[in-house]
Amino acid sequence: MNTRFSCVGCGKCCSDHHVPLTLDEARMWAHDGGQVIVLVEAFLSNGLGLPAAQHEHAQRRSVVVRSGTTEAFVAITFAAYNAGRCRNLDEENLCRIYERRPLVCRIYPMEINPHIPLNIAVKECPPESWETGPQLIVGGELVDRELAGLIERSRQADREDIRIKERICAALGIHTAALKGDGFTAYLPDMTAFATTIDRVRLQPLEQQAGEWQLHLSGEDLAGQVAACGAQVVTGTPLDYTFISLRAA
Ligand code: SF4
Ligand code: SF4
Repeated sequence: MNTRFSCVGCGKCCSDHHVPLTLDEARMWAHDGGQVIVLVEAFLSNGLGLPAAQHEHAQRRSVVVRSGTTEAFVAITFAAYNAGRCRNLDEENLCRIYERRPLVCRIYPMEINPHIPLNIAVKECPPESWETGPQLIVGGELVDRELAGLIERSRQADREDIRIKERICAALGIHTAALKGDGFTAYLPDMTAFATTIDRVRLQPLEQQAGEWQLHLSGEDLAGQVAACGAQVVTGTPLDYTFISLRAA
């Protein structure tokens, strides 16, 4: 099916959406006085937590870490914490930092994950935005070359930043991930510490081994499975993070 798209500037995508940021953008967000949320998910080296079709993409944006007697692949997202309206959205629903807005703000409503096709039913854009404008998707292919370039830049930043993001997390005491598909762990670090940690870690060599991580599971059944693979697990009430469950209640 072909899809047209033209942004009507309603500003809905700028409210209640945590916007994934590159490392440079996260540093800028903190410098500007915004809050960054750190979202972490992982899968085990034996593939537990990961559909086979997603293996390559997920592995490329992850870092290998130790957990108990096994290894896990940890993916870390730094995102603009937008609970309610984004701090940069003005009264007329215009972006105050339009010229330097994050990559993902330029990419919406397209997806960055190649395994998630565009589903207009779950997007914030109103019906009229899909009725006019240039062709976006023709025969299942994204035809906007500029947008395709932005998506590739975002994926590349994900791959390039992951090791340093793991070092930043280690320095901030962030070492608990959720199992991919089961949920996310979410941290709201102090932004002064976050910014100074980014600056400090960026100056250090990256040869160091990644740290030791544990996995937070939504229930005892899954925790048992993961522990049986040798990973360090936890299921209790977290003290310094929130567990966002993806399991149906
Ligand atoms: S930075 Fe601008 S474009 Fe991005 S969510 Fe905020 S207001 Fe919207
Ligand atoms: S929700 Fe869609 S139409 Fe509305 S501002 Fe965002 S991209 Fe544009």
